[in-house]
Parts: sequence; C-alpha cells; structure tokens
Amino acid sequence: MEIIVAEHAGFCFGVKRSLEMAEEALAKRGHVYCLGELIHNSQVVADLEVKGLRVVSSLDAVPEGAVAMIRAHGAGPAAYEVAQARNITLLDATCPFVRRAQKAAADLAEEGYQVLVVGERDHPEARGIVEHTGGRATVVENPAETDGMELTKRIGIVAQTTQSAKKLGQVVARVIPRARDVKIANTICDATSHRQGAALEIARGVDVMLVIGGRHSANTTRLADLCADICPRTHHIESADEIEADWLTDASRVGITGGASTPVAAIEAVVRRVGTCRN
Ligand code: SF4
Repeated sequence: MEIIVAEHAGFCFGVKRSLEMAEEALAKRGHVYCLGELIHNSQVVADLEVKGLRVVSSLDAVPEGAVAMIRAHGAGPAAYEVAQARNITLLDATCPFVRRAQKAAADLAEEGYQVLVVGERDHPEARGIVEHTGGRATVVENPAETDGMELTKRIGIVAQTTQSAKKLGQVVARVIPRARDVKIANTICDATSHRQGAALEIARGVDVMLVIGGRHSANTTRLADLCADICPRTHHIESADEIEADWLTDASRVGITGGASTPVAAIEAVVRRVGTCRN
C-alpha cells in the first residue's frame, strides 16, 4: 500500500503565528486569557491550558488590567472597545488574511454595497467580519440561499478565508443576473487555496483519503467535503485511533492531509497507523 501525504498539510502560517504568540506570552507571564479557543484543535488547546492559557467566551470574564489574546479568527470592533474600557492588554493574533477580509467587507459596506459573506454563520471569523460592517452584512452558507433573499442592485461579496473558490463562484453566479453592480473581493487565503489544491490533486488518484482535523474546524470540514466529491472513500478524522482497518480494505493508495489546525505529530501518527493496517 502506498501512503501519500499532501503538501501543505497541517498548521498554516496564521495558526503557527498565534501559537508562537501564545507560547511566548505564557513563558513570560505565566497565564494569559484567550477569547475563544486559540485554534480548533482540542489537544493543542488542552496543552496550552496546562501552561496557563485561560479560554473565555467573553472579555467580561477577564479581570481588569489582565492580558487577553485575540485568536487568528479575529474579533469584532466591540472586543477592542471593551478591552480599552477595562484596561485589558490585547495580544492580537488576528491572521493578516482575516484582517484583509474584515477590511474588504467594511469598505464595501462603507461604499454602500449590500454585503454578502460566503461562510459559516456561526463561525467566529464570519461573525467578526459581519461585526466589522456594523452588522450590515449577511452570511451566505449555501449558494441557493441567495434565491430567497432580497437583493439590492449593488452587491459586494467577500468570503470567509477558508471557503472554497468553487462555493464563492457559485454565489457570484447566482447574484450577477440580479444586480447591476457586483464587486467581489476574493478573500480566501493563500494557505487555504494551496491546501485544497494539494489535497484534491491527491484525492483524484487514491482509493482512500484521510482528512485530519477538529470536527468543528471549518477549514478541515471544507477540505473533507471537497475530497469526498472526488474520492467517495474519504474519512474526516480527529486522530489516528479513529481509523478502522475495514476502511483500507483493498486500498492500494491512501492519501492523507490535515487542516490548518492539525499538528505535524497528528499527521505522523496517522501515517504510522495506516502503515500497520497494510494489506
Ligand atoms: S487558514 Fe488562512 S486565514 Fe486562517 S489562520 Fe490560516 S493562514 Fe490565516
């Protein structure tokens, strides 16, 4: 059995950067608050909690004068206002690609466009982008949702950074016939495009595809969905122990990739586990 690991699998630039910031702050201060889970990987977050990271769902839970992190997903303007009012020092790990999406959406709203954000409604990054438009933007999860929406003649479209170009294109295709002025900011991040491209290339030529990453990780779920479109024997797993030997029956080629919050160690563990299931 041949095992092929995708290029661009595992931690992306934004996640690495936020982890380095957290490690450095914890080494210096002993404990630091974080607005939401730093990354969508429970094992990594648990390790950081042992080192002193305290995950909170709101800055209201952070004592005055303390230090709190904004994760790579970013946050809305209210978080910055609360921090200033309560003398909380922010360590801002917002990924520059997320910041670009926030700014693109804010600019479009400012220019009078009705803003659509292609993304996941409950994802913190999408919520943050909407907040940067003063709550005026609407999140579109499925392209068909736009059919029932009231649209003006001026539509601005941005994407949550981890969306697929295919979905962004589908939303654009549905909106164009209904508007006169459509402005699109392709805010999908480079790391996501490269990761998806590399995974799809492998998925085309393997019997089984394993996609590793948190089940609540948007980019991993998207990666698994894209691979499943091409390779029906795709499995989204969080760790190597979930692999069932049956999955690999008669497989001569197995492809492996990991989401942006997946440590190299988790990918290596999957490679080892697949190796022990060789037929
Ligand atoms: S997936 Fe892209 S936008 Fe998100 S943290 Fe990584 S590099 Fe930044």
